[in-house]
Amino acid sequence: MPDRQPQPPHSSSSASGRTDTATLLLCGARLTDGRTVDVRLGGGRIEAVGTAGSLSAHAARVDLSGYLLLPAPAEPHAHGDTALTAEGDGPLSHDAEEVQRRATEAALLQLGHGATAQRSHVRVGDVQGLDALAAVLQARRSLRGLAELTAVAMPRLLTGIAGADGLAMLGDAVKMGASVVGGCPDADPDPTGYVEAVLELASEHGCPVDLHTDAADPARLGRLAAMAGGLRSAVTLGPCGGLGRLPSEVASRAVDQLAAAEVTVVCLPQGGCGAAERHGTAPVRLLRAAGVRVAAGSGALRDVANPVGRGDPLEAAYLLASRHGLRPEDAYDAVSSDARTALGLPEVRVEAGFPAELLAVRGDRLAGALSLAYSRIVVHRGRVVARTSAVREYCNSAAAGLDLPRQGRG
Ligand SMILES: [Zn+2]
Repeated sequence: MPDRQPQPPHSSSSASGRTDTATLLLCGARLTDGRTVDVRLGGGRIEAVGTAGSLSAHAARVDLSGYLLLPAPAEPHAHGDTALTAEGDGPLSHDAEEVQRRATEAALLQLGHGATAQRSHVRVGDVQGLDALAAVLQARRSLRGLAELTAVAMPRLLTGIAGADGLAMLGDAVKMGASVVGGCPDADPDPTGYVEAVLELASEHGCPVDLHTDAADPARLGRLAAMAGGLRSAVTLGPCGGLGRLPSEVASRAVDQLAAAEVTVVCLPQGGCGAAERHGTAPVRLLRAAGVRVAAGSGALRDVANPVGRGDPLEAAYLLASRHGLRPEDAYDAVSSDARTALGLPEVRVEAGFPAELLAVRGDRLAGALSLAYSRIVVHRGRVVARTSAVREYCNSAAAGLDLPRQGRG
């Protein structure tokens, strides 16, 4: 397993070159260790954490009393180019403006849930050529300062005569700004050849790799792990639902191979995506026990693969806790610290020196927040970028006679 020790970075300038100089004080927030603290943010980072009332700053203040403050979630597996298409009539539109509008809306929806960093898989080649990618990259630019969006280029075929086009298109996609190389090797007539082509292009351009697989074929998965093992590029696989259908001994061997290759698995507990078969979630506990890093993403967001997809990382964490038996802390790590690591992003802790990527949810314990958390305040690069407030009221006649509060916040 990679080193998990905190390593607060020193630079205060951001990746895009802009420096956030404004200071913000988050007051009276509860932390998961039970402390109530003030947190001062500046330069896009956490400058100081102190006992509630101890930090005074000539700064804008946000009252977080009644809120639990967490490292922000990240979305490691979205499909921005197809998101929000489930209710459309007729065939999927590849119109660039339309794709950009939906990709932006989907990213904002996920940002409202707390995902300040998001990785989106985008199809390249075939009918849409590079148009969908261009649209998602345009959405990425328009969202700068609100959320960090990255694109994975997903070619359909990479082998044979048809594959030559796909390979050229993939190279162009990387030059255009896709920062990750991906796709679905199982959909190519030669899955091994497809993986070889992806890995070669990725190492040529120094890109990480993020491939779709159902992972139901252990021999194929073993070859993939062996090929990924010797690489410097980070390799991520998802959603790997088929692993859970294999006999346990076979699954264990396959999982050990993934662990040896230091491959990260991104599972999709909320129902998968159109690019891989939907047959349940990867065996999360088996993977974790073998030492595989497991992050959880949300996959399809109201497209044909999941018309009711919510794109909410807290729902993914809820499902890992309620259906897979993970402790709430581990379930939340899968959508936050493990997801950030899968995206190659620096770790976030609510401690001085770490990036100010934070999510405040109403409540005082993580388990309660995973059970229900409507009200949320999202901080990206030291600024509040989204706020959701929920108030619930019980009508007087129904609540009469009950010795309970008639109003609550969720
Ligand atoms: Zn997918």
